[in-house]
Amino acid sequence: ETALVWLRRDLRLADNPALRAALDAGFAPQLVYIDDPEGEGGWPLGAASRAWLRRSLAELAEAVASRGGRLLLEQGDSLTILRGLAGELEAGAVYWNRRYEPAVIERDQAVKQALRGDGLEARSFNAALLREPWTISTQQGGPYKVFTPYWRRVQADLDEVSPPCAAPRELPPSKLEGRSLDDILPLPSPRWDRGFWEHHRPGEAAAHSRMEAFFEDIDDYPEGRDRPDLTATSRLSPHLAFGEISPRQILHALREDSPANEEARQHFIRELGWREFSYHLLFHFPECTDADLTSSLKGFDWAEVDEDSLEAWRRGRTGIPIVDAGMRELWATGTMHNRVRMIVASLLTKNLRYHWLHGARWFWNTLVDADLANNTQGWQWSAGTGADAAPYFRIFNPVSQGERHDPDGAYVKRWVPELQAMPLRHLQQPWTQPDALARCGDYPAEPLVDLKSTREAALAAYKASRS
Ligand code: FAD
Repeated sequence: ETALVWLRRDLRLADNPALRAALDAGFAPQLVYIDDPEGEGGWPLGAASRAWLRRSLAELAEAVASRGGRLLLEQGDSLTILRGLAGELEAGAVYWNRRYEPAVIERDQAVKQALRGDGLEARSFNAALLREPWTISTQQGGPYKVFTPYWRRVQADLDEVSPPCAAPRELPPSKLEGRSLDDILPLPSPRWDRGFWEHHRPGEAAAHSRMEAFFEDIDDYPEGRDRPDLTATSRLSPHLAFGEISPRQILHALREDSPANEEARQHFIRELGWREFSYHLLFHFPECTDADLTSSLKGFDWAEVDEDSLEAWRRGRTGIPIVDAGMRELWATGTMHNRVRMIVASLLTKNLRYHWLHGARWFWNTLVDADLANNTQGWQWSAGTGADAAPYFRIFNPVSQGERHDPDGAYVKRWVPELQAMPLRHLQQPWTQPDALARCGDYPAEPLVDLKSTREAALAAYKASRS
C-alpha cells in the first residue's frame, strides 16, 4: 500500500522521520512536494529562497530517481492535491514532518483533520529541531523568554536527542508524472540569481560537504565568527532553512566525527541553540512575526519612511562602507554575515528609526536562508523589542564596528570596490576625506545619515516613549 510522504522544509532523504516511518510501517512511500504559497499566510517564500528551492528540489529529485523512485512536484492548495493523489494511488496514509510557522500550523491542522475524516492515516514528525517548543517549559510551566536559562534547560538533555536515521537505499517506482520544475518554479528572469551559485550549492549532498569542510576548521570558530572578512562560520543556514540537513545530524556528526576542541564545539552548538530558541519563541508567541514581542518600544515614535533613503539602504548606497558592503553582499549572494546583519539592522531601526518590519521584509525577499523564526528574532533583537533584546540604547556605531570586525578592510573592499584606493585609516568613514573620496567613482560623498545626531535623536525618542 502507498503512503504519501509530503515534503516541505525537509528536503533530504537521510534523517527524514516521516519517510523512515512510512518505510518502517511497510508502506511504499510516494514523495511529493507541493508549492502552496497561499498556505504560508503573510510570509510566502521570497524570491531568493525560491531560487534556492528550485535547485534544492532538482537535487532531491535526482537523488530520489537514483534510488528508483520519483519526487512528484505539484502546485496549488495542499489539501486538495493530497486528497487527489491519495485517491489516484489508493494511498492509506499521509506522513509529513512538522513546521512551526503560525499560518502553516493552522493549515497543517486542518489538513490532518480533513485527511483523517477521509479515513486516511495522517501523522506528523519532528525533523527540524533538537527539542520541539512545547516540550520545554519553565518551572512555572510557561515558555522561556530569556535564552540563557532556556539553553541551560535544553542542554541538560541533549544526550537524549535521538540519533539520525539512515536514508533508504531504494524507493519504489511511481506511476504518476507530476508537474515539471520549470512549470512550478520557473527560472528567474532575468537571471539575477546567477551570482548566488558561485557561493552556494543547494541540496543534501552539498549540505554534508559544507558541514565536513567547516568541521576541518571549526577550532577557528570562536575567534573568527565575528569577522565578516574571514569565512569562519559554517554557512549552513540555507541548508538548515530548507531541511537539507538537520540539527540532529550536525550534533551527531560533531560528537562522532569531528576533531573539534571542546570550546569550539560548545560554542557552535550554542548557535544552533539560538535557532532552537527562535522556534520556541515563534511557536509560543505566534503574533511576533508582525508585532513587537515585548512592549519595550510601546508608543515609540518610528520615523515616517522616506522611500529614497530606504532604497539607499536596500541597495548598499548609504555612504557608510560596512553597511553598504553588507547590503551588497546580500544582493549578490543571498546571505550576509551575522555581525553585519546586526550592523545594518541597527542603522535601519535606530539611526533611520524605521520600523523593523521594513528590514525584515527586505531580508525575507533577498535571503536564501530566510527563516521566519530566525529572521523575526534577528530583527526584533536588533530593534530592541525581542526576547533578550539588546536594550534600545545600545546603538551600533558602524564605523567602530567596521574597524573592529573588518580590521584590514578586506570585506568592505570586496563588496565596495569603489573604495579600493581609500587608505585603511579612513576606510570606514570615507566622508572625512573628501579629496580621496572624490577619486572613488560615484560612491556617495556623504553618509545617508549623520551618525551622531541620529543616534541622539533615537535616544531622545526612546526616552520620550518611556516617560
Ligand atoms: P553559524 O555561525 O555557522 O551558525 C550555525 C547555525 O546556527 C546557523 O546556520 C543558524 O541556523 C544558527 N544561528 C547562528 N546564529 C544565529 C542567530 N543569531 N539566531 C538564530 N540562529 C542562529 N538566520 C537565519 O537562518 N535566517 C534568517 O532569516 C536570519 N535573519 C537574520 C536577521 C537579522 C537582522 C539578524 C541579526 C540575524 C539573522 N539570522 C538569520 C541569524 C544569523 O545571522 C544567521 O543564522 C547566520 O549568519 C548564518 O550563518 P552561518 O550558517 O554561517 O552561521
